[in-house]
Amino acid sequence: MTRLKFAAASLAVLAFVACEAPKSSDNHGESESVSMSESHSDSSHDVKTVVKDDKFTYANYDKVQMTHLDLDLDVDFNRKVLDGTAKIDFKKLDSKATELVLDTKDLTIKSVQIREGGEWKEGTYGLSDADSLMGQALTVLLLDKADQIKIAYQTSPKAEGLQWLSPAQTAGKKHPYLFSQAQAINARTMAPVQDTPAVRITYSAKLRTPPELLALMSADQDPNTPRDGEYSFDMPQPIPPYLLAIAVGDIEFKAINDHIGVYAEKYILDASVEEFSETPLMEDANAELYGPYRWGRYDLIVLPPSFPFGGMENPRLSFLTPTLVAGDKSLTNVVAHELAHSWSGNLVTNANWQDAWLNEGFTSYVENRVMEALYGEERAVMEQALDMEGLKRAVAEAKRPELTHLKMPADLEHPDDAFTSVAYIKGANFLFFLEDRFGREHFDPFLKKYFDAHAFQSVTTEDFITYLHDELHADFPDAVTRAELDAWVYGPGIPATARQPKSDAFEKVSALQSNWLDGQMRAADIPSENWSTHEWLHFINSLPEGLTTAQFKELDKAFSLTGTQNAETAFAWYMQAIRGGYKPAMPELNKFLMSVGRGKFIYRLYGALKASDQTAWANRVYKKARKGYHPIAQRRIDAILND
Ligand SMILES: [Zn+2]
Repeated sequence: MTRLKFAAASLAVLAFVACEAPKSSDNHGESESVSMSESHSDSSHDVKTVVKDDKFTYANYDKVQMTHLDLDLDVDFNRKVLDGTAKIDFKKLDSKATELVLDTKDLTIKSVQIREGGEWKEGTYGLSDADSLMGQALTVLLLDKADQIKIAYQTSPKAEGLQWLSPAQTAGKKHPYLFSQAQAINARTMAPVQDTPAVRITYSAKLRTPPELLALMSADQDPNTPRDGEYSFDMPQPIPPYLLAIAVGDIEFKAINDHIGVYAEKYILDASVEEFSETPLMEDANAELYGPYRWGRYDLIVLPPSFPFGGMENPRLSFLTPTLVAGDKSLTNVVAHELAHSWSGNLVTNANWQDAWLNEGFTSYVENRVMEALYGEERAVMEQALDMEGLKRAVAEAKRPELTHLKMPADLEHPDDAFTSVAYIKGANFLFFLEDRFGREHFDPFLKKYFDAHAFQSVTTEDFITYLHDELHADFPDAVTRAELDAWVYGPGIPATARQPKSDAFEKVSALQSNWLDGQMRAADIPSENWSTHEWLHFINSLPEGLTTAQFKELDKAFSLTGTQNAETAFAWYMQAIRGGYKPAMPELNKFLMSVGRGKFIYRLYGALKASDQTAWANRVYKKARKGYHPIAQRRIDAILND
């Protein structure tokens, strides 16, 4: 990537526009937060020496930082664009700075105005050449006393961060739908921003939509707002730009309690409210362990099936895949996960995508602690064991050892490459290791203090390790060695000191599976009536290679696995069916791939099809399914099938 290819000399595109009438007192309060990715950890709030170490942004956030974004946008379903203005407040960290550099990708910049002394003036700006990953740097020359800029722009119909669904692609079939996914670096396809997690902004927005649709954002919103096509939002807490989020559609709301509720299309609203009814208990458990929830309301939105993730932790409004609505609350750990991000990730944020484990490892750890608090140790251990199987596979499949370090290598090609089981599960296991060595009685208060001390800041791996040394290790120097810590953070694979989760329930399942494989019992006689989804996943995932078609058929007949409505179980079964060449599952696998866009499932299914010489079949299905997938998923599967 050529991140420095844009130089000031390439200010080739200059726009000159008439001054707009002065506008006064519409400035917003600046956030006081300062990135923690500083050259030293002086506790003084005056320290402003920010080191720029995020290579996936053009922004000059070490010199000038945006502090507030005010959007005023038409949501135009006909043209599939957001069209309007972005006003940006900023602060200079370097008083000599003469320009503000923002990230954009596939944005059409129509004009830039700059406010100085309360008066709007035409702005001078330049756009760098487009880079397929990074987009374009938008450099705005700052006047001496400028305090705000206003950019008129529109997004592209192919913006990677926005998916525009036709009515036919929704459950209700009557209205279109729009939703965003800004993490990791797609906020720049929605608005001009300093698109790095090292920068925090507050934001406000006005959205205009067709009047029959409801618009939502990752911000303060009234669930009882009238549906009239004009919506206002305010996010008073400073967030990294990747947490900007928008959803517009024929969406309804139902409360779970006075500050938690669910938004969804009507067909799945009641089922979702029932599925996620224990979210308030999760919030209580989280707050009990790690301090108060600091974001006001906490709502969930169940998106259309093309949403490419299990969930996305957009603040105040977690985005969720409908595949979590299993009917038995068996997959709600994803809600615990997204909620946990309200502490790890949204409150304390990785300053750099190399440090993604600070978001995802911490969150996976907190998720598991909350699941244990609510449902007991057995379920928590089963989830740890399933995760550990996934981590082992990810480590075995890693393209190079550096991609199994918690601290990802500096030459990471795409920020998404940091979001593997290494960040999530190795990260969580590092914290299990610390918990085991220091003891919960010390580790829990330490983590609570860590979240509090770094609230609304962005931190690096090194910041965390220093904090660990100062606030915990110093008191218990014999608990861990420096070499052990380094092996976890800067070493490959799964360290020998990792916890080995042992589930009694899984061992019973394994014993029954052995009896069946040995011919001592029929599948139909396996006492599985009370198995949880977790036990089913363990049973299916641990099936040995080389099952005969007769064995596949026997399992299918006994347990109706092909076509099961539990997406996790279905996925596990189809993976086995692909590897084992079990053809009777293929029609249902086809349906699954046509109706589910969650990356966790479809990336590996297409990958397995390719690995087992079924690329032609995979291509046929993908040709039909592709237009229903999110742009992010399209990019990933294009790469998988064409690799
Ligand atoms: Zn997460």
